[in-house]
Amino acid sequence: MAEPYPREGLLLEEARRQVLAALPQALATPDAEGVDAELLPLVACGGRVCAAPVLASEAVPGFRASIMDGYALADTVLPEPGQRWSLVGRSAPGAPYGGRLQAGEAIRILTGAPLPPGATRVLPQELVQRLESGSGLASSPQLALSSEVGDNPWIRAADEETAAGAVLAAAGTRLGAAELGRLAACGVAQLSVRRRPRVGLLITGDELVPAGAARGPGQIWESNGTLLAALLERLGYPLAEQRVVADDPVALRQALLDLAASCDVVVSTGGVSAGDTDWIRPLLAELGNVAFWKLFLKPGRPFAFGQLQGVPFFGLPGNPVAAAITALQLLWPALQQLEGAPVQVLPRLQVQLAADLRRGAGRPELARARLAVDAEGRLLAHCDGSQASSRIGSLAGADLLLEIPAELGALPAGTPLWAQLMRLPIF
Ligand code: AMP
Ligand code: MG
Repeated sequence: MAEPYPREGLLLEEARRQVLAALPQALATPDAEGVDAELLPLVACGGRVCAAPVLASEAVPGFRASIMDGYALADTVLPEPGQRWSLVGRSAPGAPYGGRLQAGEAIRILTGAPLPPGATRVLPQELVQRLESGSGLASSPQLALSSEVGDNPWIRAADEETAAGAVLAAAGTRLGAAELGRLAACGVAQLSVRRRPRVGLLITGDELVPAGAARGPGQIWESNGTLLAALLERLGYPLAEQRVVADDPVALRQALLDLAASCDVVVSTGGVSAGDTDWIRPLLAELGNVAFWKLFLKPGRPFAFGQLQGVPFFGLPGNPVAAAITALQLLWPALQQLEGAPVQVLPRLQVQLAADLRRGAGRPELARARLAVDAEGRLLAHCDGSQASSRIGSLAGADLLLEIPAELGALPAGTPLWAQLMRLPIF
């Protein structure tokens, strides 16, 4: 079937497939210091990837514990209202009762405290009455059941969190707060995590001056360095090196060689199109190879992927929004794969356009939108303001990347669309 619009460049999914197919499943070599995994204290492992399986050295909690404040009993049949026990001791967290519990006896027990041997159930304190101790020194205080008891024994099993020897985290697991908290609960103090790919960023453009510096005529403040550094940091890949170089082929050539020698991945921004001062593509062809250099995508048409002296290379566009979006769509999956983790992309939701949208049809678009929920619980996408790929304001405050098919030009309010959720899950 003929395509309704002339298609130039790769569809995003195809580009991602090609990028991942061209890269190894994990960094093949240790870094310059011989490191391919690092042993770090648990708190430093957030967002990192387990290098080896982590096994539980012991069962956790390791003892049967009470889930309620109440009284532990040794009875084997379900107690009945009016039944009595003599209170013989106490078990608190960290201060277990030393003896074995006999039928007819009870101990005071607090939440999280160990059950003594012989104990079969805990009576929540709301269900019982403590009676004044009888006369005579020998008699112990009495406990009476004041209401019906359910089946729940209110006991946490000794291996509720884990059995000894169980796998707590498989190799390749990405570690979030929940995984780390569980490892801490299982007594793990440090972990071996995979080395993260070292990312080198080359920023090119004659017009760029650092933010804070005075601008000459036609100059702009350089922003992609900050944008990409912050984005990559948020994704768990802090930049290892950053260079800003004019559109000068000799200086660019040297910078590319330097970065390829010291980094696992080289990324550039700007100078990747076909203009007179765009040197990235010819230099990539000279120093390595260009696998592809155009995307059928708005924003992000000029985008080069290839190898630079054997090092994966990503030539991002100069326009800031296009640079950020292509980094998210193509560079992020590549970095995850190189780190040896399963590749995770942004979750997709089905949403409806909150208002009519007009756009120039022709290319698939990732439009920036805010997410709202209407009174019926429907997910609505508000796509307002200019979608120009130079306007970083279109990214600020955006929750979604709306996937607009190439052929759609006029989209009425209510149009269902897929959207990528940019606000990431917490755990
Ligand atoms: P280029 O891809 O070099 O043609 O750049 C496309 C547009 O993005 C131009 O308007 C550039 O001025 C702008 N641009 C390129 N690099 C940067 C940067 N690092 N920071 C901000 N804007 C940039
Ligand atoms: Mg340029």
